[in-house]
Amino acid sequence: MNHYTDLFKHLGSGVTVLTPNRRLSATLQRDYQAHQVSQDQKSWETADILPLFSFMQRLWQDYTIETPNPASLPLLLTREQEHLLWEQCLTHYDDSLSLLQRAKTVDSFQSAWQLLHEWCIDLDHPDFETADTYRVMQRIAKQMQRVLFKNNWQSLSCLPQLLISLIKNGEIPLPKQLYFIGFTEISPMTQLFIQACEEQGTLVYCHHHPHIQGDDNNKKLSLPDCQTEILTMARWAKATLAQHPHARIGCVVPQLTAQREQVASLFSAVFADDCASFNISSGQYLSQYPIIHTALTLLSLHQTTISREIFCYLLTSPYLGEAEIEYVKRANVDKHLRQHNVSEVSLRNLLNDQAFPISLAIYAPLLAKRLAPFFSMLDQLPSSQSHYQWAKLFSELLGLLGWPGERSLLSEEYQITAAWLKLLNQLAKLDLVTDNITYQHALAILKKNANSTLFQAKTPTAPIQILGTLEAAGIPFDFLWVNGMTDRAWPPQPDPHPFIPKKLQHELNMPHATAERELHFCKQLIQQYQYHAHQLIFSFAEKEEEIEIQPTSLLNKVTAIKATQLILSDYTAPAAYLFATRKIEMISDAMAPPIAIGEEIKGGVRVIQDQASCPFKSYILWRIGAKPLETPIYGLRKQDRGRWVHRTFEKIWGELRTQEALLNLDSESLSRLIHTTIELALQDFPHAYQDFKQYLLLEKKRLYQIISAWLVSEKNRPTFTVIAQEKKIAISLSSLTLSTRIDRIDEIDHQQHLIIDYKTSPYHTINHWFSTRPEEPQLPLYLLAEEAKTVGLAYATIAARESGWHGVSRHDTAIKGIRPLAKIDRLNTTWEAQLIAWKAILHQLAEDFANGIATVDPKDLKQTCLRCELKSLCRINEEITHDSSSI
Ligand code: SF4
Repeated sequence: MNHYTDLFKHLGSGVTVLTPNRRLSATLQRDYQAHQVSQDQKSWETADILPLFSFMQRLWQDYTIETPNPASLPLLLTREQEHLLWEQCLTHYDDSLSLLQRAKTVDSFQSAWQLLHEWCIDLDHPDFETADTYRVMQRIAKQMQRVLFKNNWQSLSCLPQLLISLIKNGEIPLPKQLYFIGFTEISPMTQLFIQACEEQGTLVYCHHHPHIQGDDNNKKLSLPDCQTEILTMARWAKATLAQHPHARIGCVVPQLTAQREQVASLFSAVFADDCASFNISSGQYLSQYPIIHTALTLLSLHQTTISREIFCYLLTSPYLGEAEIEYVKRANVDKHLRQHNVSEVSLRNLLNDQAFPISLAIYAPLLAKRLAPFFSMLDQLPSSQSHYQWAKLFSELLGLLGWPGERSLLSEEYQITAAWLKLLNQLAKLDLVTDNITYQHALAILKKNANSTLFQAKTPTAPIQILGTLEAAGIPFDFLWVNGMTDRAWPPQPDPHPFIPKKLQHELNMPHATAERELHFCKQLIQQYQYHAHQLIFSFAEKEEEIEIQPTSLLNKVTAIKATQLILSDYTAPAAYLFATRKIEMISDAMAPPIAIGEEIKGGVRVIQDQASCPFKSYILWRIGAKPLETPIYGLRKQDRGRWVHRTFEKIWGELRTQEALLNLDSESLSRLIHTTIELALQDFPHAYQDFKQYLLLEKKRLYQIISAWLVSEKNRPTFTVIAQEKKIAISLSSLTLSTRIDRIDEIDHQQHLIIDYKTSPYHTINHWFSTRPEEPQLPLYLLAEEAKTVGLAYATIAARESGWHGVSRHDTAIKGIRPLAKIDRLNTTWEAQLIAWKAILHQLAEDFANGIATVDPKDLKQTCLRCELKSLCRINEEITHDSSSI
């Protein structure tokens, strides 16, 4: 039975029903219509049901229309206008606060101001003198009063007071009867309002629910954790709806705004086949919707540089002009920026500078076409102008960028863009209270309002309502579940307002002032739920983030039940559901098609290296071309540092050529040569790196030290001549021809050659050359290409921690670290025998690759896969789950 049936009998002309919120008004309105239908009524007068504050605003509007001299009336400010006034009053008092601190403090002032009015507290009350914070509040509030008075403005918080004096003077016509429904408490100002209405002959009824004790239809339930609690509630709601298709079901979540994502995700998982059955009352802040987030991000492009992440977010956003046509090109811009290790992007550079790192005009011409007039409009902006002009300009700027895109908007997106226009409208209205402002300030206001405006798209009425605690109060439900009934939240710790004297709050029993008041309020709320719900379940989680929690003592008398006593819908977690419904088709993917005639293979010696470590990896990287996206870092990447060393040596030996020339240089000339070549080598890097001046200075110092030390060691080895650097070679293996470069070849003795590979980390070892699956087959491969005169292969390891030669030779070269192969006992081979072995191994690997062998077969499950980024593609972890932990 609906407890409002009696009320509905009284509704009609001259009767107004007032509620604390819109949701209860809408529910009562719907229930009233259903009641009329159930009474076989064919037509009826619409009931006047609305929230109390809307009623007051309506009274004021009607009065301003009817009054003969509306210009003399005070102008009611909007919340945003009032916020700006508070901000000005605060700045007037203390201008040292940051923008963020100021916004938060203003919010606090505004809420204190509202409480002071609702609880009829005089700003001259002596308790304001008892602490600095109260005194500050008092002074700023008085400043606010002066500004309001001077301009004949009025704050929304003063509206009840304004109306009361007009009602008392008989200047406002009132309904004959007023019903206050669903109020958990009535503030002193509302009581004065009621009193004034009664004095004018209006009959006022406050609907009080009777005290409920020991209701058998109330149950309490403990569940292991918050996640299980919400999930069980969702399963209960689904099962209850299946049993009672016409029932009204409520689910109360106390922290609904904070937990919205979790609640939405769990309910969607449970109601996978019927998401229209539930509705979540809490919306999200406007700025959290991608379409608005994109708009605000676009307007922030006035900054000199933006992070690559933000730019790439825009590149892939569907809310920009030509996003769909140019999607692939824009994604490619992201890829290129990553490859160039770009962390910060100057859009103007991308537009104008064709050299670095890419030109938008070439890579994403349609986007470039949009951005050019956007920046040109930004360049012509005045330093300050009115809010209205900024609001208009923001719209124009977004229009230039094609926001919100070409595709048809979904219903929700359409409603969000309408809310965006309201935000701009709010901004424009601020001209009333303040002067011209800058672009940055106008954008900051817009962002702040988008961050604090909750929005929820209108959806058809659903049988299951998910609500916050206050919203659910007073609404009749057939079945209601209230979760989060822990002793921490019911009642919560007292939390008096910091800007209102505590003593006063205590005496006046103001919201959150004392433990007793919190307890009383919670009892009232529980009573409301109990009164309006036929079946009621209270639940609580036993643990929160591993901390044990207790149920509220307010439910001591409520009978406890177990989850097993509830009827719950079946539920399978989405991942398990997908797994259970899988249809398996076995496809052997170990063999790819053989390389076709004319198929170009990039990758050089990496092809063979990867084939040796894992055939699947080589296939994916060098035939499919699927490479992980790089993640830029600030400063030089490891490969950049290596490249710098390589380039520096290339330039040094390009000039010196022989050891003799090196030995002939005095220390000063050598030092100069090293410095100059380090500088010259740096010029080969993209000029964005040049911005890291201090960092590069340190890096140059480090380079100078390791290069100087290395050249000392070069002086001390037997005579040599550098005969080739960065030599391009083509290695023919089986049907493959691999192109690569050899770092350096030295002639060491009687036209015999030593092949050198520079390494800038000390982890490379010759042990990686000798197996049927060599981890580093690079130098053996070079040997196959330069077999005739080569007598040695070596890594030149040039690192701060460890420098030196690591290599093997045909005979003794007298270079420390390069050992004749025949003398390495553990290898048990000779130069000639090893050459034959390498030929066989490397040819076989090349043949496997050419034939399309692509098995998921890492050489060493842990080591090989550890840094490989193809795990999600090869699914090695799924293969080994039965065996051990994943990699
Ligand atoms: S993760 Fe391991 S198995 Fe998978 S492709 Fe890489 S190396 Fe091969």
